[in-house]
Amino acid sequence: MSEKTVKENLQTFAVKKILHYLDEDPDKSLPKLLEWADKFDKDNRFLRHRDVFRKILSNPDNNWYRLIKSLWTDIDPQVRKVFFENFIVNTSLTGTGRQEKWKKAHNCNIPWAILMDLTSACNLHCTGCWAAEYGQKLNLEYELLDDVIRQGKGMGTYMYIFSGGEPLVRKADIIRLCEAHPDCEFLAFTNGTLIDEAFADEMLRVKNFVPAISIEGFEEATDSRRGRGTYQSVIRAMQILKQKKLPFGASCCYTSANVESLSSEEYMDLLVESGAKFAWFFHYMPIGNEAVPELMPTPEQRETMYRKIRDYRETKPIFTIDFQHDGEYVGGCIAGARSYLHINANGDIEPCAFIHYADSNIREHTLLEAYKRPLFMAYKEGQPFNENMLRPCPMLENPEALRDMVIRSGAHSTDMQSPEDINDLYGKCKPYADRWMPKADELWNTSHGCAGCSGCASKKSGK
Ligand code: SF4
Repeated sequence: MSEKTVKENLQTFAVKKILHYLDEDPDKSLPKLLEWADKFDKDNRFLRHRDVFRKILSNPDNNWYRLIKSLWTDIDPQVRKVFFENFIVNTSLTGTGRQEKWKKAHNCNIPWAILMDLTSACNLHCTGCWAAEYGQKLNLEYELLDDVIRQGKGMGTYMYIFSGGEPLVRKADIIRLCEAHPDCEFLAFTNGTLIDEAFADEMLRVKNFVPAISIEGFEEATDSRRGRGTYQSVIRAMQILKQKKLPFGASCCYTSANVESLSSEEYMDLLVESGAKFAWFFHYMPIGNEAVPELMPTPEQRETMYRKIRDYRETKPIFTIDFQHDGEYVGGCIAGARSYLHINANGDIEPCAFIHYADSNIREHTLLEAYKRPLFMAYKEGQPFNENMLRPCPMLENPEALRDMVIRSGAHSTDMQSPEDINDLYGKCKPYADRWMPKADELWNTSHGCAGCSGCASKKSGK
């Protein structure tokens, strides 16, 4: 089912040749590659991309140039080769082509990535973490995970992301999955405290596993949320990975309590110096009955994140994504299998790691059946949930959309400890959404011109 077709094999062969050529001497081969692109892109479909790339290559001091070059100086050559092949060839090229076919054939979303909670067990107890609510007892067994990956690859999904709980509690199974599926790229959101020399050696051996380590600013901020000593363990893990030339990134959750430290230049410099190649920023989500809504950032704090991350993209050699403010690059909400979905440790197939409602379970439904169930089809029909991509989320910024989808689809709360009524979640998010709307519309209109956002006079007048 997941074997490549003749056309896919030819594409793979051609791109591998280019990657091999690129690997020999990037200083010479990158400009040459651009020359080829100029010749082949006769109708200028990729003119803008080519211009951006040309600008990067024209200045060795440019932060993007430094980031690209660092992949050759800082990363093990075999790990880099496998990453490029899995990410560019399998995940992006073969994968997206195959996803498109399945999308057309079944009129449903097919994801680019699947996020799975390997376990609800965790060695830490972070404030506001949903995993803590699930208790320590749930696990997705190896055979089930392997089956999900086989199903996914058949439909073009080659990217698998592990979460928890703490996924590295299941180190041995992670390495086994990496070995069983060398054509996939695996990533894990981890607190980093279980990364040691032996595990790093295993990462070097399998070559297709990349950790995204949670770190919330500096020592005080990290330890106040994750527990005393966590920060030093994280720094130690990063040192091991850097020394072994393994790629890794940072996963950062911003809250009303840490925006200032997490958006600071010192913090970005710390990540770069530690060796992180990417940093993913997440907005604190008020999910679960035990959530702390006061931890949601204020509109002013969100504006700070929005502006600072965009500034750092011009100056710092690290690839950043701010999931709540980068919807414009991916067409808004990516959940509900449009680009990704989440399977929790109980097997519930949720639209997103932050949306704890489901109408299917991987122990009872195939992936394709889940994609075609009412909840995911409601996502497909509703996306994007807002024309203003700074208000992408059907929960956080458009809570009526999630309430409507959950009620219409008959989805149930997947919180095993304390099921959350969708109306309660709506009640927490609605005032927040109303507070953010004017600031979001102002930022969006300033950067993109009028998008006809809610409350805007031009939308009402149709101008
Ligand atoms: S549901 Fe919300 S948090 Fe999840 S992907 Fe969509 S916009 Fe992001």
